[in-house]
Amino acid sequence: MDAAAAVQATQPSNHGAAVFETTKTVNAHASNQVNNNIAAEMKEPELSEPLDDNQPQAEEDLVDQAGNSDPNMVGVDPGMMADSNSPKQTFVPCKVCGDKASGYHYGVTSCEGCKGFFRRSIQKQIEYRCLRDGKCLVIRLNRNRCQYCRFKKCLAVGMSRDCKSGKQYAVRYGRVPKRSRSTEEQRVTTTDNSVGPEPVPTTESKQLALYDIILTISQAHHAQSQYTDDKIKAIVKKPVSLLIAQDGIPAPSPMSLEAQRLIGWQNLAVLMTPSIQKVVEFGKRLPGFADIVQDDQLILMKMGFFEVWLTRITRMFNKTEQTLTFGDGSVVAKEHLEIIYSSDFVKAMFDFAYGMNELHLNDTEIGLLTGMVIATSDRPGLSDPHAVESMQDGLIEALKLQISRNHSAEINLFSCLLMKLPELRTLGSYHNEHVQWFRQHWASLKLPPLFSEIFDIIKNEEV
Ligand SMILES: [Zn+2]
Ligand SMILES: [Zn+2]
Repeated sequence: MDAAAAVQATQPSNHGAAVFETTKTVNAHASNQVNNNIAAEMKEPELSEPLDDNQPQAEEDLVDQAGNSDPNMVGVDPGMMADSNSPKQTFVPCKVCGDKASGYHYGVTSCEGCKGFFRRSIQKQIEYRCLRDGKCLVIRLNRNRCQYCRFKKCLAVGMSRDCKSGKQYAVRYGRVPKRSRSTEEQRVTTTDNSVGPEPVPTTESKQLALYDIILTISQAHHAQSQYTDDKIKAIVKKPVSLLIAQDGIPAPSPMSLEAQRLIGWQNLAVLMTPSIQKVVEFGKRLPGFADIVQDDQLILMKMGFFEVWLTRITRMFNKTEQTLTFGDGSVVAKEHLEIIYSSDFVKAMFDFAYGMNELHLNDTEIGLLTGMVIATSDRPGLSDPHAVESMQDGLIEALKLQISRNHSAEINLFSCLLMKLPELRTLGSYHNEHVQWFRQHWASLKLPPLFSEIFDIIKNEEV
């Protein structure tokens, strides 16, 4: 029985939400306890992880001072401005932060600071994160405090790159924006009728939704992956042997290959397990995931875990040293992995990692890709594949937009990425065959419970 069948076998359709709502087992099959425990993980309230990238940008502080406005002018009706012959007496607030607007930028009446901020945001990769669940108030005095919320506010009030490069956008997305003049180059001021028409809602709202997905995934990935750029830099490496028993299990001497493999599996399980909860937490935050029926959520997590884990950890495969480094710094040798799995499979994993690394994806892009992996609609046993498919469609569009922004010169990158998915899927099923060997030879080693659960390995009673 492969894992797909195992998942199916333990997913009788008649217990539905009970798996996620209660801890009682529906039948006596050991895997039900498994499901209940992962389900419990999935119901746990999230702890918001503190992140440390919330430093205001000096550049914008300067802009703040340069564009400093008379606070007494705040609140003057913007409507006055159009008729006024004395523009110095009027104040038109920036729709993003309320500071004095300097014109109509990216389709919205906004200040110089927010114009520059939005320009940098759409030119560079989005790596913004919020410390407060994305609910910061954005006003002039604190607008530099949270870039994530400021960018969301920019999008919410209708800022769009459409208005900057309408033609390019129209070609790429097959739409012709009604308004394509480049407002920025015209250096419009508040005196020349610059409070223009509102942005076209349909094109705006679609783009807004995609940026929203990008931001959500970026935030979730940074919070839940051990292998982001920042975290990798902090890893202190220490070589470990996967083939030495860590917790006093007497190793036969000389060890048989089978004994080596079992000990290796156990050590590998300990190293992989911290990722399980993180991948589950990440999955819960995917847009649309909460709307999927709970049995299907569980299938997506079990079937997708290894593929997501591998995609995340690709940066830790070292080509010259032939090693793989884990989030806790443990450096394991390729030849030990070959004993645990097989040399063919390990070679395929390393090749996949090298190929991924050559694409130079940033954290946000890896996050979006792993989101797509979780939202694979043809996993065996899904009761509502269409819901999963529409979830993946949103992620695909978001990744396409992100790639077009961040890798505009690499025309084929997006299709290269899509071609990685079948390769990853094949690796996932190879891995599953190895897990199957382990299931059969599993006797008395202790495995971390979550590891047994995600791979449907039946546990010993005393564990
Ligand atoms: Zn502003
Ligand atoms: Zn915020």
